[in-house]
Amino acid sequence: MKYLDEFRDPQLAGRIFADIERITTKPWAIMEVCGGQTHAIIRNGIDQLLPEQIELIHGPGCPVCVTPLGVIDKALDIASRPDVIFCSFGDMLRVPGTHRDLFQVRSTGGDVRVVYSPLDAVRLAEQHPDKQVVFFAIGFETTAPANAMSVHQAEQRHVTNYSVLVSHVLVPPAIEALVSSPTNRVNGFLAAGHVCSVMGCWQYEPLVERFHVPIVVTGFEPLDVLEGIRRVVIQLEAGEARLENAYPRVVQHEGNVPAQKMLADVFEVCDRQWRGIGEIPRSGWRLSDRYREFDAESRFDVSEIKSPESSICRSGEVLQGLIKPNQCEAFGKECTPRKPLGATMVSSEGACAAYYQYRRLDVPDPSSTFDAATSRGVIDAVRLPSTAPIAVAMPARRG
Ligand code: SF4
Repeated sequence: MKYLDEFRDPQLAGRIFADIERITTKPWAIMEVCGGQTHAIIRNGIDQLLPEQIELIHGPGCPVCVTPLGVIDKALDIASRPDVIFCSFGDMLRVPGTHRDLFQVRSTGGDVRVVYSPLDAVRLAEQHPDKQVVFFAIGFETTAPANAMSVHQAEQRHVTNYSVLVSHVLVPPAIEALVSSPTNRVNGFLAAGHVCSVMGCWQYEPLVERFHVPIVVTGFEPLDVLEGIRRVVIQLEAGEARLENAYPRVVQHEGNVPAQKMLADVFEVCDRQWRGIGEIPRSGWRLSDRYREFDAESRFDVSEIKSPESSICRSGEVLQGLIKPNQCEAFGKECTPRKPLGATMVSSEGACAAYYQYRRLDVPDPSSTFDAATSRGVIDAVRLPSTAPIAVAMPARRG
């Protein structure tokens, strides 16, 4: 398929692998920020084909995963009300709250609908003036512009029975929190190309300068990810730290300026809870004063709902690279994609779910803390020749 096959070419992949092998002289830990990149890495075995000195750490960029349990419970509370049509993208319907999920709400009479755009939800509100129509607005900078546009259109068309349950999160503050942590092990980052297609690359320049950490913007196909890794390693080996755009077919330095203007009009920056990580200052968006009347949280008075996370989940350590998913004692036992205990098992883009789905089930000594040698022991057991074909699968919805 044009624009996909050429980014999954096994011969080209073999050459980039060989190049990375040739230039790598020291151990480096590189974080792929986005869950879509994690998925591509695990699905194609990229981490198993890299030189032993390079470790990939799976980042927090899975929008479904980082949405706090309390927000899911708020959605379930609102969706259960008889006067509500609750709209969401399909990936949120099976995400469990404390006691149930949106599918179960629908099976017991709740009007829960899957839409392909928040603008469809606005139209539903116009068609059902006797109902309250709520859209579940979660995710990163990627999905936020369409959600912002829906609120803007609702205001312009005086659709007063429309509102949004907002839990948007922002990537740069999460990177800042990770590199500021005393336990940080990350030497360089692969930034998510779809986020940068909206927000541009410029937001990452202060992080590169302040923390002297290479950041390479890249995409989601195997060759995109490999080229990103290659560029990060070149910088690390040279002792340099630059922002590079390895995804120019999609990302422009300035990003999508009209979308940024729309976001700045509808949203304002706020502190935000990240599932598995905790609160990160100024890492989210909420509706600005002008649009606050469209806030479902206050319209349905669910702000006080708080939901404790599992005490045995170690997803915070997974997200910081301190353990691999299969080093969590609950991995594949109490915690599976059907019954997830934590953030990184909730969505297929989460690191724990990716390890489960692609059968990375070899569980090291659960009492051991992470070290590169332990992890490599698992990976070496299934190391493939560098000429192995790159697997092909449909891309997941991201952001
Ligand atoms: S396997 Fe489950 S319990 Fe363990 S860290 Fe991952 S999400 Fe948490």
